[in-house]
Amino acid sequence: MENTRNYSAENLYAQMGISEKVWKRGEEVCDALKDRFEAFDRTAEANQLKVIGAMQKNRISAEHFIGSTGYGYNDAGRDDLEKVYADTFHTEDALVRTQITCGTHALSLALAANLRPGDELVSVSGKPYDTLEEVIGIRESRGSLAEYGITYRQVELKEDGSFDFEAIESALRPNTRLAAIQRSKGYLTRPSLSVEQIGEAIRFIKDLCPDILVMVDNCYGEFVDCVEPSDFGADMTVGSLIKNPGGGLAPMGGYIAGTKECIENCAVRLTSPGLGREVGASLEANRSLYQGFFLAPTVTAGALKGAVFAANLFEQSGFRCIPGGSERRNDIIQAIEFGTPDGLIRFCEGIQAAAPVDSYVMPQPWAMPGYDSDVIMAAGAFIQGSSIELSADGPLHEPYAAYFQGGLTWYHAKFGILKAYQNLMDAGLIRLS
Ligand SMILES: *Cc1c(COP(=O)(O)O)cnc(C)c1O
Repeated sequence: MENTRNYSAENLYAQMGISEKVWKRGEEVCDALKDRFEAFDRTAEANQLKVIGAMQKNRISAEHFIGSTGYGYNDAGRDDLEKVYADTFHTEDALVRTQITCGTHALSLALAANLRPGDELVSVSGKPYDTLEEVIGIRESRGSLAEYGITYRQVELKEDGSFDFEAIESALRPNTRLAAIQRSKGYLTRPSLSVEQIGEAIRFIKDLCPDILVMVDNCYGEFVDCVEPSDFGADMTVGSLIKNPGGGLAPMGGYIAGTKECIENCAVRLTSPGLGREVGASLEANRSLYQGFFLAPTVTAGALKGAVFAANLFEQSGFRCIPGGSERRNDIIQAIEFGTPDGLIRFCEGIQAAAPVDSYVMPQPWAMPGYDSDVIMAAGAFIQGSSIELSADGPLHEPYAAYFQGGLTWYHAKFGILKAYQNLMDAGLIRLS
């Protein structure tokens, strides 16, 4: 009897440095979130069926995990994985490759492959993700689209974060070829866009100019909802495999799901004209890519539970959370404003201390290239830089916000958040009555 008691979750939390007060507060917050959690589970359930259905339809078998070397000709595992993605996202085609190095590369590829000199690109969701500034040439950069004579225009979102349809209409030119929409907020404090909102913008643009292609940056958004931007007519839906759709198992890679025409353009641009998608060895990665995609709906639900749990826990202690604890989720990112450098640092230390890997290191703020202030990052990941695993970071300037996301399991996310909360409490930054 004594033994079973010692190994109850409550006792193990105590052994892992979570005080009784913090644990109890955590349980209260969880109890109040039962309905939200159930809704996340429902979404995961629907998405799980989508993925299984797509794998069954494409008759996935053990041979698909074998992989290829060299040129990678006739790699059925690679080719059928692309069909599984296309069927899950309800698109004509998809390109899913480990040769796509990250999300930025996937987005850069989608743009460069489908724009030609003289074309104009328009972002209708305001400033794009930081790394795209150099891709587009907003910040002068070697190899940018601007160097190839592709011009750029940007339409800001309205004050409330919704699309400015009037401004979109007046931004469209005869040479506008592609409209880009970013679902997640990235490192901004605007709200993330819902799939329905994105769908409305796609319809608006297509009604005005049916020939304009629409690309959606879907990073951190996959499987958060039962529908994806591709269900609403996006020509290309783009993301990273070390975020949601890789399920934590994909060792690298990116995907683009979309129309046959757009995907063919991407394939010849990724490898070479004439070779296209026929080449690109998968080495040993196929199994992880399939298995990760299979797990991705559940992993995403776990990350969502962690995000909502943190928002509610920290909001109760007076910190501003974006999105707020009861707001609808459109991605897995949670921002928490600490208002002081100490709060942000303490939070990141707690996340690090809860990691399965590198838990003994202390994250330190440092002058990261490309940022105008020091940045602190916490990550103890199995896959380098993987942000579907529990990770947090934030720039050391007002409002001292931590952006955090992920957690391969809800229990790890919960432990990390409690550890961060405890660390702030131990520093006197949170008081619990
Ligand atoms: C992460 C992210 C990217 C870029 O992905 P990397 O894999 O870091 O290159 C692009 N857009 C958004 C919204 C993201 O969250």
